[in-house]
Amino acid sequence: MVGDVEYRDQAEANLGQPGDASLILRGRPRAIVMACPDGCGETLVVNLDGRAGKAWRFDMRRGGLTLFPSVWREGGCGSHFIVWRGHILWCGRFERDNLEPDYDEAIEQFVFGAMDVEKPRDAAQLADAIDELIWDVNRAANRLVRRGAAKSWKVEGRWVFTRLA
Ligand SMILES: [Zn+2]
Repeated sequence: MVGDVEYRDQAEANLGQPGDASLILRGRPRAIVMACPDGCGETLVVNLDGRAGKAWRFDMRRGGLTLFPSVWREGGCGSHFIVWRGHILWCGRFERDNLEPDYDEAIEQFVFGAMDVEKPRDAAQLADAIDELIWDVNRAANRLVRRGAAKSWKVEGRWVFTRLA
């Protein structure tokens, strides 16, 4: 993050390296303007304002910028990536270079506690229930599934979770 601004042209002037991002803040968070992290030279605008259309969730806790869901440029370079606590995780390419943020397994008991035995909840609902970052909750939930403590399946394109007993 290279500084908060009020307007898009100010944000673009701040961007230097691929992955640099600037927050447009006018009364409330409006958008993230980012130099495409793949180095193609394009500038991406990620809307954060639900009144201006489809909006991403934005969070600055735990060491950096987090956006949910992933950012996907359908035109141009086609970049598709996750922004998670200041890390870029590529979806579908450069996968060797992906480095997830540190894992603190203490979150698992809270994620497990937020799951229901019968009522499926997705990662966003679980994250809201315990006020944690969605990507962290998603990772913990999938670890619980792998350990046999929970199960997951897909409903209308999103993964939902229930706990086992
Ligand atoms: Zn690009």
